[in-house]
Amino acid sequence: MQINLYNSLTRLIEEFKPIKENLVRMYSCGPTVYNYAHIGNMRAFLFADLLQRVLRTVGKYEVNWVMNITNIDDKTIRDSKLGSELWKKEMGEQSSSPLENLLKFTKYYENEFLKDISLLGIDLNHFFAMPKATEYIDSMQKLILKIIDNGFAYISNGSVYFNVMKWNEADKYGKLFNIDFENFKAGTRIDTDQYEREQANDFALWKAKKEDEPYWEFRIDEQICDGRPGWHIECSAMEADLLKLPFDIHTGGIDLKFPHHEDEIAQSKAGYGVEPTAVWCHNEFLEVEGTKMSKSAGNFFTLRDLLDKDIDPIDIRFAILSAHYSSVFNFTFDGITASRKARLRVQDFIYSLFEGQEFVPEKIDYSLKTELINSLRNEVFSHLANNLHTPKALASLFSWLNNHTSDSLSNVEKVDLIIFFSEINNIFVAWDIKKQIKENIIPQEIVDLAELRLKARREKNFKESDILRDKLLDLGYSIKDGKDSYTLEKM
Ligand code: AMP
Ligand code: ZN
Repeated sequence: MQINLYNSLTRLIEEFKPIKENLVRMYSCGPTVYNYAHIGNMRAFLFADLLQRVLRTVGKYEVNWVMNITNIDDKTIRDSKLGSELWKKEMGEQSSSPLENLLKFTKYYENEFLKDISLLGIDLNHFFAMPKATEYIDSMQKLILKIIDNGFAYISNGSVYFNVMKWNEADKYGKLFNIDFENFKAGTRIDTDQYEREQANDFALWKAKKEDEPYWEFRIDEQICDGRPGWHIECSAMEADLLKLPFDIHTGGIDLKFPHHEDEIAQSKAGYGVEPTAVWCHNEFLEVEGTKMSKSAGNFFTLRDLLDKDIDPIDIRFAILSAHYSSVFNFTFDGITASRKARLRVQDFIYSLFEGQEFVPEKIDYSLKTELINSLRNEVFSHLANNLHTPKALASLFSWLNNHTSDSLSNVEKVDLIIFFSEINNIFVAWDIKKQIKENIIPQEIVDLAELRLKARREKNFKESDILRDKLLDLGYSIKDGKDSYTLEKM
């Protein structure tokens, strides 16, 4: 099915077509691993997961999905120096090498991140690569040299800066975001990785070595520029190495449009001569009471905070996916409860489809035989294909469920519906598509009596077998005979 996506670059919903026939190459800005990710961050990763799953399931594309791990930036360096209690508890003593400390510290949070996203239904096998910034320093340095050679970057005190004004004259700075050039003063430089003002300033591609910080050797025309990369250059180099330019889609949270993605576009075009991609997709914020969930606002929940409150991570996934990615998601506990109720309603319906079925899920071939389920599938899929409209897709599904009971369906329709649920579960990852396992634990003494009765039947001692059947009935168990077997059921 044809997929349409909202492209932040053109500000239009456009027909999506991969550059290489059936293969989608997609890059998502990943986590900065200096702490546990909060569920606001998780919305960005769940959005990318939704997109890649819709591309696979509805678009029938192969997807090479790359998500980076930012393990070197201002925050990871700051916090890997702390030597806090957590350091001692989880990571042992600090070493005298800042780089070793950084790698140990960020590895811990990377592992926690991978555990968290797995609990949220993201399949780690879906990643083509999860590159760590510290493993691509060489490519970053090469890209910086290209940008300098092309005349769009300069060295100042061992750091390298991107010359925004010069680039704006050659191409355009501010394709994603309206930039305020009015207050621009040539040579105004910004050293931090993240900055709020939507104002043009020269930003750091490479930051000169500071005491007690990790650094890599870098010589530029005989000048010593030992130091470490800026955050923006990391993504530009990794995506080019792993996906080749241009690739098909770049994703991230809406706050990354500026400066991160704006700077990625500028660096890539100024260095490689090619923009990373023609399609940029951004998710809106997850908010708490009208404010973006963030570490700095202090209004955040990590996944472990919610697990401690006995919340099922799949309910968080389902709640977040139930809203459209381009509208603000307001996080409330009532919202999670309501979403769980809706999810379990579908689950009960799925269980009821298996009653009296001899269906073997391994045999799913995704070809539906009935018009009833085919038209439901078309409706749900077309909403998903229309810029990932999950709220409309789920509304169609729930309205269908309101108008049908499993009793009213033929056996073929039930099988089709099971196939359809398996298919959309490849996107939502919200349900168990299998027969419900009913609690039917039978005490050993009852099984012993049934075994004695089977023995009596084998010996054609029918008087004894009748006595044992009555005994079982008295104890509350009925027994059904097979050829040389029996089934016990609690009455
Ligand atoms: P970070 O680990 O800070 O680099 O952020 C990882 C991702 O989370 C980025 O794509 C951010 O845009 C995204 N993000 C951060 N806070 C929120 C939020 N409250 N709602 C949605 N996405 C967010
Ligand atoms: Zn990035």
